[in-house]
Amino acid sequence: MSISKSEWEIMRVIWTKEEATSGQILEILGNKNDWTASTVKTFLKRLVDKGYLVRTRSGKSYLYSSTLTEQDAMNQQVDDLFDKFCQRKHTMILKHLLKETPMTLTDIADLQALLLAKKEEALDEVPCNCIPGQCRCKEHLGL
Ligand SMILES: [Zn+2]
Repeated sequence: MSISKSEWEIMRVIWTKEEATSGQILEILGNKNDWTASTVKTFLKRLVDKGYLVRTRSGKSYLYSSTLTEQDAMNQQVDDLFDKFCQRKHTMILKHLLKETPMTLTDIADLQALLLAKKEEALDEVPCNCIPGQCRCKEHLGL
C-alpha cells in the first residue's frame, strides 16, 4: 500500500511516541507543514483506511497507534522502490547507497560479515526480471 510524504511524516511521529492524538501530531508537524487540525484528521483517517493505524477512544479524543513497526514499514518502502528497477541494476544502486551513507566502523564490520555470508549464495549471473523492451539486459543476454 502506498504512503504519501505527509502520511509518512505522521507515521514517524506515531512510531516515536508509540501512540498519539491528532492534537499532539498537529503540535509537532503543524507549523512545519502549515497544517490545520482538519488536515491532520484527514491524513489520520486515510492511514486508518489503509490499515497503517488503529485508533482507540481515550476520553474526548482518539489515540492512534501503528499496526506495523517502523523497520517493517521502511523495508516495505525500499522493496517497493527497488521493484521499479531491473534486478540486474540493484547492485549498482546499493553501491551508490554504500558510498553516500554515513557509517561507523561497526556498521562497516557488519556489512563485511553480511557480504561474506552472501558469498555462499552468489549467482553466476543475476537474472533480469523486466518486461522485454524495458531494459537492455535481454538484448545483451540474447534471450
Ligand atoms: Zn532488466
